[in-house]
Amino acid sequence: MVVIGLGRFGGSLAMELIERGTDVLALDNRPDVVQRYSDSVTHAAVADSTDPEVLRQLDVPEFDRAVVAIGDDLEASILTTSLLAEFEVGHIWAKAVSRQHGRILERVGAHHVVLPEHDMGERVAHLVTGRMLDYIEFEDDYAMVKTRAPAMAAGHALGESRLRSKYGVTVVAIKRPGEDFTYATQDTRLHEGDILIVSGRSRDVERFADLT
Ligand code: ADP
Repeated sequence: MVVIGLGRFGGSLAMELIERGTDVLALDNRPDVVQRYSDSVTHAAVADSTDPEVLRQLDVPEFDRAVVAIGDDLEASILTTSLLAEFEVGHIWAKAVSRQHGRILERVGAHHVVLPEHDMGERVAHLVTGRMLDYIEFEDDYAMVKTRAPAMAAGHALGESRLRSKYGVTVVAIKRPGEDFTYATQDTRLHEGDILIVSGRSRDVERFADLT
C-alpha cells in the first residue's frame, strides 16, 4: 500500500496500517515529515508525488492500492490522483477537503473518496445533539447507531415489540451492564439501560434514539 502525504490524516493512516500488518510505502515532499515516519513504516521516502518520474522510480505503478492523503494543496492532490489513475493503480483512495474537491478527484480517477473532517463533523453533530452513543452513516441514507433501550421497549421480546414495523429499525446486538455485546434474536428481552446497536434508515434510527 502507498500512502502519499503524511499530514495528520495520512500519518495516522500509515501507522494504523502498519499496526495491522500491512506493508506501507509512505511518501511526503517534506524531509522533516518523512524523517518522523522513517523508523515506523516499511519504507518512507521524500518525494514530490506530482512528478511521474519520481513515482516511477519508487515503483508506485506496481502497487495495487494507494491513498492520496494530501488535503490542502488541491493542485497536488488532483495531479497525484490523476497520475495514479494513469498508472492504472487498481484501488485509489483519495482524501477530499470538500464535496467539490471529492467530485474532481472522482473525475480524475479516484475509486473512493473520503471526507474525514466533514464525516467526523457530521457524526459528532449527531452525538452532541441526540441521545446516541455512537453513529455511523453508510451510503444511501442508511445508518447504524449505538443507543440505550427506550423505556417503552422494555420487558418485551424483540419478536413481539414490532420495532421494525413501527419504527423501521432492526436491533442487531444488545449489551447488558457488565456483559459483552451479543446478537439480538426474536426472543431477546430488552431491559431499560441495555445498550443496543440499531440499524435502519438514518431518519428512523434517529427517531428511535430520541425515544430514550
Ligand atoms: P492533514 O489535514 O491530514 O494534516 P495536509 O493537507 O495538511 O493534511 O497534509 C498533507 C501532507 O501532504 C503534508 O505533509 C504535505 O507535506 C504533503 N504534500 C503536499 N503536497 C505534496 C506533494 N506534491 N508530494 C508529496 N507530499 C505532498
